[in-house]
This record gives sequence, C-alpha cells and structure tokens, in this order.
Amino acid sequence: MRLGGIIGIIGGGQLGKMMQTPANNLGFKTLCYSDQQGSPALIFAHEGFQGSYMDKAKIMDFASKCDLITIEFENISRDVLKEIENCFPSRLFPRAESIIISQNRLREKTFLANNGIKISAFDAIGSKEDAKRFFSIHGKFILKTSENGYDGKGQYLIEYLKDLDQDIPFEGVEMLAEKFVPFSFEASVILTRNREGQIIYFPIPVNIHKNGILHRSIITFKEELWKENMRKVSTDIAHSLNFVGTMAVEFFILHNGEIMVNEIAPRPHNSGHFTLDLTNVSQFENHIRAVADLPMIQPKLLYEGEMLNLIGREVNLALNFLDKENAKLHIYGKKEKEGRKMGHINFIYE
Ligand code: ADP
Ligand code: MG
Repeated sequence: MRLGGIIGIIGGGQLGKMMQTPANNLGFKTLCYSDQQGSPALIFAHEGFQGSYMDKAKIMDFASKCDLITIEFENISRDVLKEIENCFPSRLFPRAESIIISQNRLREKTFLANNGIKISAFDAIGSKEDAKRFFSIHGKFILKTSENGYDGKGQYLIEYLKDLDQDIPFEGVEMLAEKFVPFSFEASVILTRNREGQIIYFPIPVNIHKNGILHRSIITFKEELWKENMRKVSTDIAHSLNFVGTMAVEFFILHNGEIMVNEIAPRPHNSGHFTLDLTNVSQFENHIRAVADLPMIQPKLLYEGEMLNLIGREVNLALNFLDKENAKLHIYGKKEKEGRKMGHINFIYE
C-alpha cells in the first residue's frame, strides 16, 4: 500500500474523467489511453495516449509506464487484457478474467446461470430460424448483440413474429435472445471489492430508463427487503468474479418482489453517479482506493435525492440550474450528439 505513483486508465469517457479527481487527490498521476482524440478522460489526464484498442504494441507501451492499470470501459480485446496481465502481473485491476466475462453478454449470462443466479431465459441466436424458435418457446423477447452494446444500442424488441422482418444483422455479429421481463421497476447495486475480498456497498438507487438509456436514478434512506436480497446476490457475483474495484449489478424487481439480475458492469456505473454528491465517498474514490490497495471508505447516504442524465441536447437544460444550490452539475465536455450522455445533475431533495 502506498500513496502516489501512476494509475493508467483505459477508456476515454466520463467515467475515466471522474476517476481521476480522487486519484489526483490521493497523490496519483493519471495516464489515459483512448481511441478518441479529445475525449473527456484523455484531456483530463497528466498524459494522454491516443490509439486503437486493437493496437497491442501501443497499449503495452502505455501499460509499461503505469504502476497500476484500470479500465473505465470494458470493450478491450481479450488478447490485449491477457497480454497486460502476463507482462505486468498485479498491475491490472479489475483482473482480466472478470472484465472478459462481463464484456460479452453470452459469457456473462452463462457465468451467472452456472453460479445459480436468477436471470431471464436466454439463448445464443445465429439466424432468423433460431430467433423464431426462441419466440415459439418464450414469447416476447429482446434480441441483443453480445458485445459492444450500451445505452440500449444493438437491441431489438421482438413482440410479434413480424418484428423479426426488420433489418437485423443475424450473420456477422454474435447475438442472444433474452426473454422479456415484465418488471415492476429496476434498481442497481454499486459495490467496491478490494484485493482481500472485503466489500462495501453504496445505497441502492431505483433506475428509470428512457429509450433504453438511463434517465433518472432515485435514492432514498428507506431500507427494503429487495435491497437486502440484491446485496446478497451481488456479493456472490463479486466474489465469484474475484472482482477488484467498483462494479454494478443491474436488477429487475418483479411485481411479486422477486429479483432477477439484468447485467453486470465491471466498472463504476452511471447509476452510481449520485455518490459524487449524495454520499460521503464516491464510487470513483472507492474504486481508486481498492485498485491501489488502500483502505475503502464505508459509504453513508447524506441526503435523499436523484441523478438526472442529460442526453444530447438536454445538456442545455443545465443552464436553468446554474443558480440552484441543491443542483450539482457535472458536464462531461463531450461533443454534442443525439443520444449521447453529455452530463448529469445530482439533485439534493430539500
Ligand atoms: P445496456 O448495456 O444498453 O444497458 P441492458 O441489457 O441493460 O443493456 O438493457 C437496457 C434496458 O433495456 C434495461 O435497463 C431495461 O430497461 C431494458 N431491458 C433489457 N433487457 C430486458 C429484458 N430481458 N426484459 C425487459 N426489459 C429489458
Ligand atoms: Mg444496462
């Protein structure tokens, strides 16, 4: 355990930017590797490395300059992750294996099912025929690309057989079908696990999505049975993955109060952004602490409130809240694009 040194972050998005403030506060220098020039984490870093995520030599050169390496984005090739771990043992956290499992939906669902975690029925889909068969057994389902999907991208809701007639790339990309879950609401567990296997939990937000993108996360002091159950299931998942760092487990809560895992994110998560202002420690700070083998802080909820994502043009709404002291603005500084997460506001309820 030591303060200082160099932490390398792979991925250039806002999560990587928000990790760097606590890292800097703890005396670390941050380097960032991103494939996009001008991305938020890249321009925030002490040194930015721009290159393709497939360019093994370039990523290895980046890794050689870091004392520790973490990720803010999971879609880095399996090959590169393994290579970093082989060449620089005990430098990459979370470990390659846990990133590799959660970067591919089929691998992730298979892992969860094998560990006895309750999830919706799923199957690999390689053709329209496979999809028809899945529909005849399970009815309404969601077709998803196995990799590189986020914010509802690469997803097709199949409510009727005729929905399979749309332009779906059955060949070329790995896809899977997931039976539609008629959930009551969604919520997520944000936790941090250290190298010794200790886990701390953040308060659980209820998440509301709009067009497949997280819209609001609402946080209250109220303790509920489903929250307790979600923590138990997430604990099993984090230990089975031997995870190190902050991760999220997204859940569906059914009308009868039962819970079902939707997906895992092997990194800090959008639904945990409220921790920047509503708790005593953020998901990003505990991530850095766990990765750097420093003591984690037990999160405490200071205020009830909510996080509101600003998507695309909504970022301009932030102007209306500049003079409101209970609205905490976080603008990522990205180029505005439809459907893109541009920032968020944490509201402290009065
Ligand atoms: P992403 O990686 O884009 O977050 P998700 O699998 O979490 O992908 O899907 C995004 C959202 O779509 C979920 O939060 C949920 O609202 C809805 N969704 C996804 N899968 C299902 C399902 N099997 N049944 C019902 N709704 C779903
Ligand atoms: Mg999700």
